[in-house]
Amino acid sequence: MKILKYWVIVWLLLTSFIGNAAEVAWIGDSQLNLDEHMEFTVTDSDTLVGDEKWLSHDKKLSRSKEQYLHFRVSIQNRQSIEHSLWLVLPFPAIKHITVTDGLNTWVTGDALNFSTRPVESPDYIFPVHLKANQSTQLSGFMQGEILRYSFTLNTPEQVTALYRHNVMRDMAFFGAMSTLVIVSLIIFLATKYYSYLSFAVFTFAFGAWFFRVFGYGFELIWPNYPQINDISYGLLLYSVMVSSSWLTISLLKRQDKKVAFQNIVMAYTALLMISGLFSALFLDLNTTLVIPLYWFFPSVLLAFFITYKEFSAGSVKALWFIFAMLPFSISSAIVVAIALGLNIPVDPIGSLMLGLVSTCLLLTVMISTYLIKLLQSQRDLEQQQAYALEKLVNERTQALEASNQLLQELASKDPLTKLPNRRSLDLFVDDCIEHNAKTIGIALLDLDHFKRVNDTYGHDVGDIVLCQIAALLQPLNTADCIAGRFGGEEFAIIQRLPEKSVFAATLKALHLRVNQIVIPNYESIEVRACIGWVISEEDETISDCFRRADKRLYQAKDQGRNQLVP
Ligand code: GH3
Ligand code: MG
Ligand code: MG
Repeated sequence: MKILKYWVIVWLLLTSFIGNAAEVAWIGDSQLNLDEHMEFTVTDSDTLVGDEKWLSHDKKLSRSKEQYLHFRVSIQNRQSIEHSLWLVLPFPAIKHITVTDGLNTWVTGDALNFSTRPVESPDYIFPVHLKANQSTQLSGFMQGEILRYSFTLNTPEQVTALYRHNVMRDMAFFGAMSTLVIVSLIIFLATKYYSYLSFAVFTFAFGAWFFRVFGYGFELIWPNYPQINDISYGLLLYSVMVSSSWLTISLLKRQDKKVAFQNIVMAYTALLMISGLFSALFLDLNTTLVIPLYWFFPSVLLAFFITYKEFSAGSVKALWFIFAMLPFSISSAIVVAIALGLNIPVDPIGSLMLGLVSTCLLLTVMISTYLIKLLQSQRDLEQQQAYALEKLVNERTQALEASNQLLQELASKDPLTKLPNRRSLDLFVDDCIEHNAKTIGIALLDLDHFKRVNDTYGHDVGDIVLCQIAALLQPLNTADCIAGRFGGEEFAIIQRLPEKSVFAATLKALHLRVNQIVIPNYESIEVRACIGWVISEEDETISDCFRRADKRLYQAKDQGRNQLVP
């Protein structure tokens, strides 16, 4: 407070040297832009001696950072009522500013705490009183780094209304940008496609930079560290540049092909970051924040060339990219045209927002279309793979079934004669017991003097004889009858619920046909056999029945062979 009082005294002294600025009339309630009416001069100290040369435009003045930029403007109240007005500096970036209306003096700026401002607001606002039909001189000076300022005079009601309107517009814009960021992030997490991540980072960085969200937030949370605002602003500005390079490359990327000039873009972006870091460490903030602006135009040219190259190489994505960038390019052109002084009846910030949101939406459509295509081709591939897998499974199943069948055959059939083997005969007997078959017929067949055949003609010929016997037995196999090889040159026929006469007739016919066997090339061989057979009696066990059949067979052998003994 002491400093403030001291300033007021100094100021009152100083103002006597200021002289009179050209007068601007306040005639009503519409916002008055003072930029055109301000007068400026540069001095080495905060004191004016009176012989300074005042210029109507500060751009004509050259000023080193240590010098003071003085300004003044005179406002005449053309109305017969007293007015309470606000002198406003929207979006300022000034280290120190001192403002007085002759009665009050305020010292504030980015280097001072948020609380030094006469009206707590991110914009600098100074309340002024205009007495009826009187003039008031507003003056002051700026020190340190000055990046940006502009003066307007307005009623508090209008400033508030304008501020509310801007906050609402910004919130709507932020809602759209945040939704895009969140949606892109979710899609990135789900798909791991980096174009979505680059899009999310770019959208986030651009939105946050454009509205200095973090700057204001930090000012509110840490009012004593205004430099955080500058740091976050700088970081976001560089993030916008870096992420836009990344976005361009990842959007234009086709399969595994490198984008045209990709290495140049990467080197260019790396160089920007290095020079920014160098400037922040060894030069000043102003230079650090200005570097990306110089970098911006060549990077736009580069992006244009890449897109053109990709388009000539037949990239549909490049065409889409141009189309998506159109709204943002148009709105940027409008902003530049307004900045150059062209009278276009459009709100430049609003148009830039609309352009950016439209471009972002088109980019979303672009990468979504790409994603859908990718997903479709992935699904087709998966279908093909599933089909191939199904085919393979079918083949394997068939092979397995075949080998199962082979195993089954090996386990149940005699390899030489293909007749049911001993195991199958046992299983048939088990089945008969299980199903309580009341009676069974058992016949055992043994070749006579078979050893002699082997000895005389060889084992191979013996095998042929065994196969001939098998050929006679094979047709007897049905659901209720099994005719198999019992072992060696012995065979067994087991019939479930046999009719004795039919069983006897079958065996008789079989015996007859055995006798008729002729072995080609060995016509001299007489194949003879003994058959002993029985029908089970009531309460007789199967093993007893087998024993009886075996006995009959021995009887047949004893009776001189080639006999059928019931
Ligand atoms: P018997 O009239 O008393 O039944 O005399 P046999 O010679 O038929 O009876 P033996 O039990 O003395 O001989 C059976 C022969 O059957 C001995 C064996 O070499 C032969 N044999 C067993 N299995 C096979 C085979 O798979 N192939 C061939 N070629 N001979 C076999
Ligand atoms: Mg034998
Ligand atoms: Mg024998």
